[in-house]
Amino acid sequence: MSGFNFDVITLFPKAFELINNLGVITRALDKNLIDVNLHDLREYGEGSYRQVDDKPYGGGAGMVLKPEPIYKAYESIRKLPQSKTLLMTPQGKVLKQKDLARWSTLDQIIIICGQYEGFDERIRCLADEEISIGDYVLSGGEIPAISIINGLTRLLPGTLGDPDSLIDESHNSSLLEYPQYTRPLTFKDMKVPDILVSGNHEEIKSWRRRKSFERTLERRSDLISNENYKKSPQSKRIIKENNQFMKFRIGNGYDIHRLVEDRDLIIGGVKLHHPENLGLDGHSDADVLSHSIMDALLGALSLGDIGKYFPPSDEKWKNADSLFLLSKVIDLIRQDGWEINNIDSVLVAERPKIMPHIKLMKKNISEILNIDENLIGIKATTNEKLGPEGREEGISCHSVVLLEKK
Ligand code: SAH
Repeated sequence: MSGFNFDVITLFPKAFELINNLGVITRALDKNLIDVNLHDLREYGEGSYRQVDDKPYGGGAGMVLKPEPIYKAYESIRKLPQSKTLLMTPQGKVLKQKDLARWSTLDQIIIICGQYEGFDERIRCLADEEISIGDYVLSGGEIPAISIINGLTRLLPGTLGDPDSLIDESHNSSLLEYPQYTRPLTFKDMKVPDILVSGNHEEIKSWRRRKSFERTLERRSDLISNENYKKSPQSKRIIKENNQFMKFRIGNGYDIHRLVEDRDLIIGGVKLHHPENLGLDGHSDADVLSHSIMDALLGALSLGDIGKYFPPSDEKWKNADSLFLLSKVIDLIRQDGWEINNIDSVLVAERPKIMPHIKLMKKNISEILNIDENLIGIKATTNEKLGPEGREEGISCHSVVLLEKK
């Protein structure tokens, strides 16, 4: 079986002597798992000076690689059936682990290394892909090429002692690797985490998964927000398992109560007067504003709705003061370390006028929730005589809350 072929066009073939002293890569060469064929650009240079570069048209600093020697060198390379040509350039796509994995199933990679100020633009059409190894500029394409040879070779079957070591490592699943330790157990007062010496493999696995996630969040949160990653079923599981690392949760609540005779009209703990002496019907005091805020709070933490905590079937909550119920809900939310970032509510009522009472409603709610009044927004609108609110059959309220983990 012949190995994976790297064909490199370079003005500095000696730079590749490094791969003869590079552990895993050197062993792969010795075992014929890879062949690295160096094509010295100088040999394809022109004239007695074997010229490979020239001054740029239009002026400017430095020299640019001429197209003819690179084309000649390229044409001299025997192409295998599954072959790709990569051009090393800081203008290319930044190299990712998934690119190495993708190329590792080919037979051959041809790498063109630039030098000096770069290369004639017409060289670009030889390349299937233009690759950069990072957002910085090196003096030549040799170190980028060695990086690719190195990274790709260790993915080839038979190169690594333990192929399992490829599974968990950084960038494979868009997550960085968890912290690793080896002997001694304590070094300069730094101790290996107990869990790793516990022998409990399930717990070790879950600790590693959690650390991996935390580490990525701390160092490279851009990898977690990557859209592809978010879509993967694995990320859903990890995000769920690691809800404790979520900093914000949003919740939305809605409530409507019927307007009837012989009932009080209480909104946000304020007793209002309806011109037809109507009030809100319900098991408790039917305070739609407090109810919709409670639902939004519970919704933000996926805890269900108020019906679950204060069921209408329970006599205990008959005519209950909804502000009291709200105080119970906020206790539940705070138990888990969450705090209100802000609340925004909108009441929908044709009559009576709500505006004059908003200040007092805010005061009541901010006192019960023990938060600043400025964090509470209460607005009111009519429904333009449309729908149940417009026909004065009822009054409704929508609320949104944002919770922040403290
Ligand atoms: N003036 C050029 C850069 C020339 S650097 C420009 O602005 O695009 C000289 C050569 O080094 C490049 O042609 C390329 O082959 C190589 N090189 C430099 N930085 C690189 C990087 N980050 N990734 C890949 N190749 C790079």
